[in-house]
Amino acid sequence: MKTGIFSHPSFFWHDTGDNHPESNLRIKKILNRLNKLKIDEIKNFDCPYATNDQIAKVHDRTYIDKITNFFPLKKVIKLDSDTILSPRSLEACLRAPGAVISAIKMVNQRKIKNAFCVVRPPGHHARVSNGMGFCIFNNIAIGAAYARYELGIKKIAIIDIDVHHGNGTEEWVRSKNDENFLFCSIHQSPLYPGTGLGLNSTENNINNYILSPGEGSFEFRKLVNNKLVTILKIFKPEIILLSIGFDGHELDDISGTKLISDDYFWVTERVSEVARKYCSGKLISVLEGGYNLLALEESSFNHVAALIKADSM
Ligand SMILES: [Zn+2]
Repeated sequence: MKTGIFSHPSFFWHDTGDNHPESNLRIKKILNRLNKLKIDEIKNFDCPYATNDQIAKVHDRTYIDKITNFFPLKKVIKLDSDTILSPRSLEACLRAPGAVISAIKMVNQRKIKNAFCVVRPPGHHARVSNGMGFCIFNNIAIGAAYARYELGIKKIAIIDIDVHHGNGTEEWVRSKNDENFLFCSIHQSPLYPGTGLGLNSTENNINNYILSPGEGSFEFRKLVNNKLVTILKIFKPEIILLSIGFDGHELDDISGTKLISDDYFWVTERVSEVARKYCSGKLISVLEGGYNLLALEESSFNHVAALIKADSM
């Protein structure tokens, strides 16, 4: 079976301007590199719109209405200092969670082996009732809600290895008060948004692991092996959703961690092994951050190479 790549031109049309780190060039870099592959192992897919009802499984209706009512939009507006809507952003905002839904559906039906959703705007900071940190709607949480409430998948693991804490995703998982949703994040602290410190946590299904500035492959791989993989094996997921950000890379100025491009191949292999053991290889990854274009291009390519290599059985 093939690895599905889910993307859409509208992710390029979401225009944050020339000096914004979360620029539309990110998508172009990733897809250009993947398109050069011309190999049988990947298949490209379009991204339908997520419906209002699907988005409302995660976000307040008032917040969804607030975003959609900005459109048609004539000029750029800012939800906060760095979270931007441009005249053509609405389509991207609706297709990004739609990509995740579509990928989950196809992987679950065994039409493809696994999937990488190359989407913008990113989603993991988006909270139930507000966008923040470049994120408008929480793409991966909307996917998790679809997997549970429309497909009836019980045990859903959401892993977040973006260098920033996935505060929005964690908030939504916590609000469900359901131990069959697992959230595990490895992120740098101190760093935006300042949450996910793992202090005083008594929640078995929410697990945060911290990297300090200056730490790199060795510490990251240790956390993955000793913590993340261990927890996944205890949890025994029926599907794994992976928020993948490439902004912990040593070339990425947004963080102080020193991951290298090969770490993204390695971690994808580790997570794929767990997926093969417990859920027939069902792994869907969703692009979050990654702002150095060279690191992004190399690391995302490595991620896809490991998805292609993964066995599904
Ligand atoms: Zn990030």
